[in-house]
Amino acid sequence: MIYLDYSATTNVNKEVLASFSKSAEEYFANPNSMHKLGVNSKKLIEASTKKISELLKVKETEIIYTSGATESNNTAIKSIAYTFKNRGNRIITTDFEHSSIYEPLEFLKKKGFIIDIVKTDENGIVSIDHLRELITDETILVTIASVNSEIGIRQPVEEIAKVVIEHPKCFFHVDATQSIGKDKIDLSDIDLVSMSAHKFYGLKGIGILIKKENIRIEPLIHGGKSTTIYRAGTPALPLIVSTAKALRIALESLDSNYAKVLELSNYLKENLKTIPGITINSNEMCIPHIVNISLNTVKPETMQHALEEYDIYISTRTACSTNDYSRSVMALTNDKEKASTSIRISLSHLTTKEEIDIFIIRLKECFNKLNSLS
Ligand code: PMP
Repeated sequence: MIYLDYSATTNVNKEVLASFSKSAEEYFANPNSMHKLGVNSKKLIEASTKKISELLKVKETEIIYTSGATESNNTAIKSIAYTFKNRGNRIITTDFEHSSIYEPLEFLKKKGFIIDIVKTDENGIVSIDHLRELITDETILVTIASVNSEIGIRQPVEEIAKVVIEHPKCFFHVDATQSIGKDKIDLSDIDLVSMSAHKFYGLKGIGILIKKENIRIEPLIHGGKSTTIYRAGTPALPLIVSTAKALRIALESLDSNYAKVLELSNYLKENLKTIPGITINSNEMCIPHIVNISLNTVKPETMQHALEEYDIYISTRTACSTNDYSRSVMALTNDKEKASTSIRISLSHLTTKEEIDIFIIRLKECFNKLNSLS
């Protein structure tokens, strides 16, 4: 099998899975129970939260556990909107956001919020000047992904944060799902940050929302006691413990993993350039882990299934998108054909050069055959 869909999800690290199993078996008691077993569970969660806070360089009280980045994004956007609607009804975002940002914003539009789109340049990078112009006294939130999931465009979040900070009534939320564990990111000036453990070799079903301590928000999920007042429900101890482990492993080897992926990505792009008819949409502003290409006349699903015959797995748009074309590729290229024929190849430090060689051979074969048919 050649798996080239690591940005959709990663395979779980064996050590991470072992820590999940061990903690699930040994610390099954509810951390809200007052007896000794419950207290031990609570202590283990607290130790994991401390580890995560150190790794992310945030305070322990700023960590909210969720079910994944989708919930983190929904919480950040809707909770800020509900809590601060008296301050204003404008939210700024980009054309490059994941559906878990786009859909909550569409929902809020129906409730009377105005969504402003900040301009981006030919590489998809946010215009800082336009952002300055767009922020008004009515703007309560700026929400921008640090890395776009389809093309891999990396936004200058530190620069954006500097602009938002000048407006004390406006918050800055970053969907960092495609950055955490892969790419360096400074979270210090960001008010709210979303992430998902399964993108960094952790398990599915857990995400984190970092929320600066001084921001009081209405929770989306009300109910029983949890690790914070911002998301109710019995804390998912084995998922929390395993996430601390996944994050530590990912961050400890971030530099060497990044260098490896960069080399593989350059090798892949050099080879892709030799296939006439294929265009590379990812540019030099993108993280190396994501390489998005358009296939001229070939439908992405047809290519996906053709490669699947060879046990090779790539992505069409993002796994979560519902459109028949890629909104991100459309925003970048303004070319409907490119946007409706794009596929995403996503790499890991686990990818090998040999896998890329085989992928290129099969891609060429499938592309030449399918392109001549259509
Ligand atoms: N944001 C981005 C940028 C993503 O890539 C994803 C996952 N495709 C999500 C949010 C949603 O993550 P999850 O499915 O884990 O909730």
